[in-house]
Amino acid sequence: MNLVIVESPTKAKMLDKFLGKGYKVLSSKGHVRDLPKSKISIDIEHDFTPVYEEMEKAKETIAILRKQAKEADSLFLATDPDREGEAIAWHLVQILDLDKAKSVKRKAKNYKRVSFHEITKEAVEEAFKNPREVDLLLVDAQQARRILDRLVGYKLSPLLWKKIRRGLSAGRVQSVTVRFIVEREREIEKFGKEIYFAFKATFSPKKGDNFDSYLEKVDDKNLEIKNTIQLFSDKYQYTSGFIKTADEANALLSDLTGAKYVVSLVKKDEQKRYPYPPFTTSSLQQEASLRLSLSPKNAMRLAQKLYENGFITYMRTDSINLAPQAVDKMRNFIVNKFGKSYLPDQGIFYKTKSKNAQEAHEAIRPTDFSALEDQVSRIKNDLGPGEGRLFDLIFRRAVSSQMLPAIYNRTDVEINATGKSGKNYLFKASGRKLKFDGFLKIYRPNGDTEVELPELSEGEQLNCVSLISEEKQTTPPPRYNEASLIKELEKNGIGRPSTYAPILTTIQDRFYAEKKEGRLYPTAVGIAVNDFLVGKFEEVVGIPFTAAMESDLDDIASGEKKWVPVLREFYKPFEKDLVKAEKSDRVPVAVEKTGEKCPKCGADLIIRTGRFGRFISCSAFPDCDYKASIKETIGMKCPDCKTGDIVIKRTKRRRAFYGCSRYPDCKWASWKKPKSDEAEKPEDQASAGTDPAEG
Ligand SMILES: [Zn+2]
Ligand SMILES: [Zn+2]
Repeated sequence: MNLVIVESPTKAKMLDKFLGKGYKVLSSKGHVRDLPKSKISIDIEHDFTPVYEEMEKAKETIAILRKQAKEADSLFLATDPDREGEAIAWHLVQILDLDKAKSVKRKAKNYKRVSFHEITKEAVEEAFKNPREVDLLLVDAQQARRILDRLVGYKLSPLLWKKIRRGLSAGRVQSVTVRFIVEREREIEKFGKEIYFAFKATFSPKKGDNFDSYLEKVDDKNLEIKNTIQLFSDKYQYTSGFIKTADEANALLSDLTGAKYVVSLVKKDEQKRYPYPPFTTSSLQQEASLRLSLSPKNAMRLAQKLYENGFITYMRTDSINLAPQAVDKMRNFIVNKFGKSYLPDQGIFYKTKSKNAQEAHEAIRPTDFSALEDQVSRIKNDLGPGEGRLFDLIFRRAVSSQMLPAIYNRTDVEINATGKSGKNYLFKASGRKLKFDGFLKIYRPNGDTEVELPELSEGEQLNCVSLISEEKQTTPPPRYNEASLIKELEKNGIGRPSTYAPILTTIQDRFYAEKKEGRLYPTAVGIAVNDFLVGKFEEVVGIPFTAAMESDLDDIASGEKKWVPVLREFYKPFEKDLVKAEKSDRVPVAVEKTGEKCPKCGADLIIRTGRFGRFISCSAFPDCDYKASIKETIGMKCPDCKTGDIVIKRTKRRRAFYGCSRYPDCKWASWKKPKSDEAEKPEDQASAGTDPAEG
């Protein structure tokens, strides 16, 4: 009998189906060994040797695995195809005493490592035909990350307890991530808002409908000013204007009264819009957040179920490669469904920029390219509606990557007018009309708009129906949402496919940041911890250092660096900072006032963080015991009583739901955010839920 060990019960069931007689498939149910929580478990003096222990929750499983391994003729370790999976395989080798060099019995069983990127019959059979050894370099890279994170967590957390507040904890990548959010909050505070004016003219042409046009230039001087400022991790561009007061705006309007408007330029050309590469973990999380309102954590949970049930390739990847066979299948799908006119001459092969090329797998794509609707309804039925929707998105994105670009007919129009003062005014308008939909047939990106312009000819005089000034305000850089933060982390080389979702979950679970209406805000504790760490461990919570560390881990995986020197290089300066920080003063956490007074005693109400989250408390505590839960509004009125505000509440198990602020007088509640015509729809959700294939 051949014993096959995987890490998940679902995967075990699938493999059992494919491998048939002669194979017994068991699941380790995740990791079997880890660094015990009770102590640091790393021998820093002796090359950072980790001291692993069998995990308490895995004891039963380990006993079963040992017994079955004894009876097996040979073993196959078929854990997931990445560093984490490689490490689980290696730990299994250790606990099952398979390591020939170390085996106490001197006669260890034969074992092989098999890995595959999709759980399909062909891929699994292929992998079992080509078994390999456990890749110790990948194991080293995983261990190095584990040890690094353990060192940082174990050394920093007690320091935070002493200097800031009991119960706090720090993590390596997590702390840098919080820093992005804190820095952004300060950038927003610092941003000096400015008023400026724009001018919109509505013209009526000889033929066709009225159209809008904006003033672009006054005597060759651009009305808009483009400003660029340097932010923590990025440059930010925003628009202001040289007309800054209502008086100036009115003067401009009156200068143009009675002016003659003439079309001075009509330029037509074609504009192509190219499809996107298929999904990586990061782009999947971003789009799932924008289109399906899924948190990265939930997106990964659903993607994992799709993968384990054989519907998609492995969901942790930074590769945009596609297997040639998959490209062929997609091309067949495109021809059959949409016709030859949508198919490029050749398959499109996207190139992955990521460093760990030889670990590189494939992008996230479906394993089967039969009818999408049938697959989605089967998945919805077998797994659930969320899985169905996510699969639909993955399928569309992958297939669209192999289709022709969309083509727009673009028209640029310039309109001239001379004011009473003799100044020359230039208005501009652009039209965009879809000529060929190409990949948009199956995948419509967000914010894809068409603008109709009437047929105009140069020299044509236009009737100005209205000319108005619009007061505008310069916009500060936006707060991150989960999608944009993941994008920014990836751009800066921080985090990897396996870490984005857990990091974003951790910083919110620990109340360092909180999400309000989809945007991430730092909490007072988050700010205090961040400022302490930036002050005492400037390098460790900086972008260059964290990015270099990720890249060192990649180098360990590819064999270019050894893990012990990498850890040593990190630990020496870190230890020095630690000693200095020990001597520093305690840091106060800023009091977050709600701006309201206590209904019991009249003192200020403040926000405190307890074991179960943030709540409103009286600043006079413990003299006054007033307490209330935080009311997070979403800017909508209660659909039931029409007077209360809709607020986000949480169940005891912290699941969010919507309720009325007038509770218990009004008992309206809903799991789902109510739809309302008056409520402003977030721009990036405007196209969610429409089916591009049906137009
Ligand atoms: Zn009070
Ligand atoms: Zn109500």
